[in-house]
Amino acid sequence: AAKRAGGNRMQIFSDDMRVEVRERIAAENRLREALAGDLTETLPIWWQPIVAADTGLVVGAEALVRMCTPQGDILGPGHFVPAAEETGLIVPLGEHVLRRAVIRLLEWTDHLDYVSVNVSPRQLAEPDFVPMLANLLAAHPALDPSRLVLEITETALLSSSVDVRERLETLKGLGVRIALDDFGTGYSSLTWLQSVPADVVKLDRSFVAGLSADPRKASIIQAVLWLARSLGMSVVAEGVEDPADWHALRELDCPSCQGYLFGKPMPPAAFAAFLQPAANRQEPLRLVS
Ligand code: C2E
Ligand code: MG
Ligand code: MG
Ligand code: MG
Repeated sequence: AAKRAGGNRMQIFSDDMRVEVRERIAAENRLREALAGDLTETLPIWWQPIVAADTGLVVGAEALVRMCTPQGDILGPGHFVPAAEETGLIVPLGEHVLRRAVIRLLEWTDHLDYVSVNVSPRQLAEPDFVPMLANLLAAHPALDPSRLVLEITETALLSSSVDVRERLETLKGLGVRIALDDFGTGYSSLTWLQSVPADVVKLDRSFVAGLSADPRKASIIQAVLWLARSLGMSVVAEGVEDPADWHALRELDCPSCQGYLFGKPMPPAAFAAFLQPAANRQEPLRLVS
């Protein structure tokens, strides 16, 4: 009986694996198809506001890629970015996102200071990444490169064969800024802070959500804010959904916030409307104190 149970478990396990492999292949095929199409249609970039904590007004935006399937579904990055990383298709995908970011920066110059773009470890390790970005910036001399922020996660530091620190120094040499994304969730956050020439820390939403009701979270955030300030770095609190958490972040003097409270990721037209000063002021920014 034990043997048969074991056999059954094996059976279930390999079924799961088959499903997983099939999904991987489907994701890769979808991605190849999307990359062969009109990228602005198949892989649109959505924009999420980043606001000044004290006023709630927009200072920047994060570029968050989506995929529109031929069936009309809109997929989040979790459905295709991992496959893009594994196959190397993240290189053309990432270039597309950067190109759109530069175009929007110029278009929205009057309405925001910067846009933030996620850069995966694989992209960062690519020898062509720096020249590609240098060319892109050179093609848009009107753009102040410091208005482009590259978001890097800690895993880039661990999983990469290239000297990430050196690569980031080179990127900073182009004038762009570097942000540490999902800060605090990795196991080498302090090493990361010490060794990487970053300008911005993005506090992961696991520290931020529920902060007003949790003194331990508040203490951790206070310490990170202090640390960042002493290192000359700015801080963005991610995942702000609750007005009480926003209030607590203001009390702690956190410079900026991002989260559903201020705005979800939006397609470009909706974001452009959101950027209009009137719309901006109408946002649900009532403080509870
Ligand atoms: P991330 O860079 O940490 O982006 C923030 C994610 O949190 C986004 O999910 C955003 O929609 C979500 N978020 C923002 N505010 C809130 C909130 O108040 N509550 C909650 N529950 N969630 C919030 P999204 O768009 O699904 O992106 C997921 C991840 O995919 C990103 O995490 C980033 O790591 C990756 N990603 C997105 N776009 C790109 C890209 O162009 N290139 C690369 N390499 N990765 C990307
Ligand atoms: Mg990010
Ligand atoms: Mg993040
Ligand atoms: Mg995050």
